[in-house]
Amino acid sequence: MAANMSDGKRRPETIAAQALDAVDKVTGAIVPPLYTATTYARDDDYQLVGKHLYSRYGNETIDHAERIIAALEGGHAAMVYASGLAGLAGLLETLQPGGKVVAPNIFYWGSRDLLNHMARTGRITVEYVDMTDEAAVKAAAMGAELLWMETPVNPTWDVVDIRRMADIAHEAGAVLAVDSTAASPVVTRPFEHGADIVFHSVTKYLNGHSDVLGGALVTKEDNARWQAAKHVRAITGGILAPFESWLLIRGMRTLHVRVRQASHNALAIARHLEHHPKVERVLYPGLQSHPGHEIARRQMGDGFGGMLSVCVKGGMAETGRFVRALKLFLPATSLGGVESLAEHRKVIEGPESPIPDNLVRISVGIEAEADLIADLEQALEKA
Ligand SMILES: *Cc1c(COP(=O)(O)O)cnc(C)c1O
Repeated sequence: MAANMSDGKRRPETIAAQALDAVDKVTGAIVPPLYTATTYARDDDYQLVGKHLYSRYGNETIDHAERIIAALEGGHAAMVYASGLAGLAGLLETLQPGGKVVAPNIFYWGSRDLLNHMARTGRITVEYVDMTDEAAVKAAAMGAELLWMETPVNPTWDVVDIRRMADIAHEAGAVLAVDSTAASPVVTRPFEHGADIVFHSVTKYLNGHSDVLGGALVTKEDNARWQAAKHVRAITGGILAPFESWLLIRGMRTLHVRVRQASHNALAIARHLEHHPKVERVLYPGLQSHPGHEIARRQMGDGFGGMLSVCVKGGMAETGRFVRALKLFLPATSLGGVESLAEHRKVIEGPESPIPDNLVRISVGIEAEADLIADLEQALEKA
């Protein structure tokens, strides 16, 4: 019986660590091979030998990464893309001409850039709302085809209630897609709260080593929109390359230990800095003082993730001195890697951005908690 234990019964940690079914049937190798072929030969009857034809449609290595992601989210199937935004573009291409998207006021700025571009060219229409205001979301959802949400929200880490958004979307006949990049499937599994589609920038926690750019869409069920998204990816070629898929499989094997350690460190840092004399406030859903804490306790589990923001007392100058004095936290964009990063967001987003001047976004890695706290302490002294 044990040998036949179905994948559905295995826990996510086991699925990730064993890469679902990594043992190669032909050689017994316990690490999956990397298939690089772009094209596949036919047999004597002119039939395809396996199920693959040409790698713009997929191959064994790419399929393997997709099966793992679908299993980790508890979805029907996944598709991987050359970047997170390529996945979002692929999803938007399934909308009717001029189809309406409801999106949050504050979310990942690259996604916003893409929605604005598609709206400017007339491909879609977009309405932005405050997603903590349910009446506003309800009004905006009328006639919408897609509700796009992100939780926790970059870079305030506000927590949006997936269940409430799903109910509103479904009442309006729309689909709910959740950008779950910052949470990862360790912390939040949006299908359990009513989402229809889950989105990941696999560049972040799923790969976790800052060496793969990629994205994923996961669907709860097979339906016409999923088939349309598959067709769009096949004809536009937004698929993740085999080597990146192979690295992603390798990265996901340690997903749970990485995310748990990052969550552990992030909570320790948030608690340590919350009452620090040089800190105005700390934004982290794991803190009781955070406005999203109640929803977070319902919706997040196994930690509150590795992302937090620190607002330094003072303005651009003090905040600039703080980030430049950090030695362990690397001054780089992105998130979800094993190494800690810190970024002065106002400098990156520019003067028009509503982001506070003193906000530093921190992606907490898996280093020793004491080393990270010591680095923040010495840098705050110089703020
Ligand atoms: C990085 C990121 C994206 C975009 O993904 P890319 O892989 O950079 O294209 C989308 N959403 C969130 C929350 C992200 O952090």
